[in-house]
Amino acid sequence: MIIMKFGGTSVGGYEEISRVISIIQGRLDKKPIVLTSAMSKVTDLLYKIADKAAAKQTDELETLIDNLRSRHICIAEQLLENNVDYMLEATSRVNEICDELEEFAKAICVLGELSPRSKAIIISNGELLSSTIIGYAMKARGIKAAWVDARKMIITDENSLKGEPNIQEIEKRVPEVISIAAQENEAVITQGFIASSVSGEPTVLGRGGSDYSASLVGMALNAEAVEIWTDVDGILTADPRKVPNAKPLDRISFEEAAEMAHFGAKVLHPSTIEPAMKKNIPIYVLNSKNPYSAGTSILGGGSICDGAKSVSSKEDILVINIFSTRMINASGFLGKVFSIFSSNKVSVDLISTSEANISVTIEGNQDITNVVKELSNFATVEVDKGKAQVSVVGQNLINSPAILEKIFAPLKDVKTYMVSQGASLINLSIVVDKEVKDEVVCAIHESIFA
Ligand code: ADP
Ligand code: ASP
Ligand code: MG
Repeated sequence: MIIMKFGGTSVGGYEEISRVISIIQGRLDKKPIVLTSAMSKVTDLLYKIADKAAAKQTDELETLIDNLRSRHICIAEQLLENNVDYMLEATSRVNEICDELEEFAKAICVLGELSPRSKAIIISNGELLSSTIIGYAMKARGIKAAWVDARKMIITDENSLKGEPNIQEIEKRVPEVISIAAQENEAVITQGFIASSVSGEPTVLGRGGSDYSASLVGMALNAEAVEIWTDVDGILTADPRKVPNAKPLDRISFEEAAEMAHFGAKVLHPSTIEPAMKKNIPIYVLNSKNPYSAGTSILGGGSICDGAKSVSSKEDILVINIFSTRMINASGFLGKVFSIFSSNKVSVDLISTSEANISVTIEGNQDITNVVKELSNFATVEVDKGKAQVSVVGQNLINSPAILEKIFAPLKDVKTYMVSQGASLINLSIVVDKEVKDEVVCAIHESIFA
């Protein structure tokens, strides 16, 4: 059994979906479990719909839902033009989903209040729509396919917009649901991103979460492989939108991929690696526009060579500088500082310390009001929003010849505020001004990989 996840760009329209179905057709001997994202830009559109509902802007809301409906109806009609029965079934299901969404969003307009639960319900519709259409298109092409609602098997805690997976429930439910669906079928189609709590409330795994769903399903089924189909030839040495000469990587380790995803390589959701790694299931990142390219294999450590693999950046960060003269010669100071981060559930990315100062970076979407308040009882605290972090990732990085020179030489005219090398020797990160981050990424990439 293999897992095949297709991202939004792979299912953007008629041509893309047709190509995806050919790719699935070529894998039927492996009993594929297909997970799909919403069609490209649809989740953004659903977020807008939620905002318009909260703002009671009924007219704009109707226009947006009309756009959503017509885009999906039009693609269903194109894909199913040779099978009128499936076309009628698919379009009527699309209309049903859009009608329900419209009714729900209008009820929110009346209330003028959008709870996280309501938002999760609205943004879940993209995957429901795309998987419905693709499911019918697979059948119309002769694939015996069963459609499964992912909310029956991907179970999370009650956090509506960033549900934390309940691994025990997932490991129990996924095999149950899939074994029934797979009976007498060649393939199963379900959704990424969407889930539900144990009590049945709808949740989602957070933006870009379909990759994570695929890895969770792979783990629960002990799959042979998890394939992440996207719009580039695998994981590259840098984001190709910023570094045009970035090159695809043949193979990297689970640890390298996890570190890259966490430190800004937006090709994978940061939590994707862990579930597959737990069962040593290889992950392949492949290009649906170029299906015969080798892509990147993400594998267990042994077979991976040492050295730098990628340069990435993250700008949605906060730098917290903590100054205290009481730190000098005082034992237990670090412990006190980090217990405050820990008790407020704020997770820290990078750390640098000197005699009277600790600097940390954290992801910018975390609420740090309490952390700052508690730290201010014994230290001066400065929060800086104007910085970005640039990371070089690679196994045993520091053993690569002249790597420090290659990283730091291009920085001679750049102000570097923090340098942090993980003890795992897999990541070296620096903090620079936001404005120069892209330049710095390009320069370090050139210096290491040219
Ligand atoms: P999908 O819709 O398939 O989930 P995403 O947009 O989430 O696709 O991820 C693919 C995109 O990630 C690529 O188009 C690329 O621009 C971007 N990206 C950023 N960093 C990297 C990297 N190191 N390697 C490959 N792609 C990257
Ligand atoms: N559709 C969701 C998003 O855009 C999930 C995903 O594509 O992975 O965030
Ligand atoms: Mg993605």
